[in-house]
Amino acid sequence: MTQFVWGYLSEYAEERADILDAVDTVFGSGKLVLGPSVREFENEFAAFHGVSHCVGVDNGTNAIVLGLRALGVGEGDEVVTVANTAAPTVVAIDAVGARPVFVDVDPDTYLMRVEDVAAVITDRTRCLLPVHLYGQCVEMEPLRRLAAEHGLPILEDCAQAHGARHHGRIAGSFGDVATFSFYPTKVLGAYGDGGATVTDSPDLDARLRRLRYYGMESVYHVVETPGYNSRLDEVQAEILRRKLTRLDGYLARRRAVAERYAEALADTGLVLPVTAEGNDHVYYVYVVRHPRRDEILAELKRHDIVLNISYPWPVHRQTGFAHLGYAEGSLPVTERLSGEIFSLPMYPSLTAGEQDKVIDALREVLAP
Ligand SMILES: *Cc1c(COP(=O)(O)O)cnc(C)c1O
Repeated sequence: MTQFVWGYLSEYAEERADILDAVDTVFGSGKLVLGPSVREFENEFAAFHGVSHCVGVDNGTNAIVLGLRALGVGEGDEVVTVANTAAPTVVAIDAVGARPVFVDVDPDTYLMRVEDVAAVITDRTRCLLPVHLYGQCVEMEPLRRLAAEHGLPILEDCAQAHGARHHGRIAGSFGDVATFSFYPTKVLGAYGDGGATVTDSPDLDARLRRLRYYGMESVYHVVETPGYNSRLDEVQAEILRRKLTRLDGYLARRRAVAERYAEALADTGLVLPVTAEGNDHVYYVYVVRHPRRDEILAELKRHDIVLNISYPWPVHRQTGFAHLGYAEGSLPVTERLSGEIFSLPMYPSLTAGEQDKVIDALREVLAP
């Protein structure tokens, strides 16, 4: 059975010496928590985004939790987002006591649309939370204008969009706060959990720093509650520093894989990813669509190929969010997509041979 693991084993085979050197550097430094590697990574990651501040945190979900808290979002506030995202986006909104308000998405790009956001803003709305889904950016300029009109902050969920660009400008530099995950499968992945927030605001940065450190301003003195222990690990930070220098190379390889799929599958009836105007896609996942999805996946399984679905259940229809009261049919595009989408293997170390195996099987299964 070819279970396409996400590629970190083959990446580790390529980068093992550097990864182990990063681990050894930290273990030998005597600074295991909030030491020089976290500080340097924060500086480098902020510079990479052309912003002034970055706070390393423990994962992408808590990056959103802390980001929302830093923006003053809490109990009873409404946060506008999408339901075709990774559930953690919404779990984080719920965790600060706020109410997620979902909008449907564009049927071609699968992204949030500004006119839908405008339609759900109420006097309880406290934040707009676009998700740069699958590796390409939501159209940000109209969204920024809408947010400014209503005096609302924007938190960008960039967990799937490291290095993505929109009209030349990098994902993470549009919002008041942007959040990242470094979960191993992400475009920039750690060897364990990790996350970060970036912002240009010194005040938000200071709040984020306190929030990840028990609410303390200096050691042993809490100035803000509730606080969290939400630190990026020093070992992961040192690994991320090394991998950040290779990010452009990872992106080039992902784009080459995408190009090859696009060429080989153009005439199969599969709906291939559509890149919105002005976007540089980073292909965190390569999501295709077909009305006979379940049948196709079952047949691929007979070819020993097991593919992933990102994501099979839209968040508003998941059991844990039933209390939000979104009935079946309330987000028709999102719901239809969830029954038709599936993901082809996509990672920088995917070989041409592995890719051919998937392409050949798909062409056979889809042949008229
Ligand atoms: C992965 C992901 C998260 C959560 O990140 P973790 O590091 O797993 O907590 C949040 N939002 C999106 C869109 C993601 O893809």
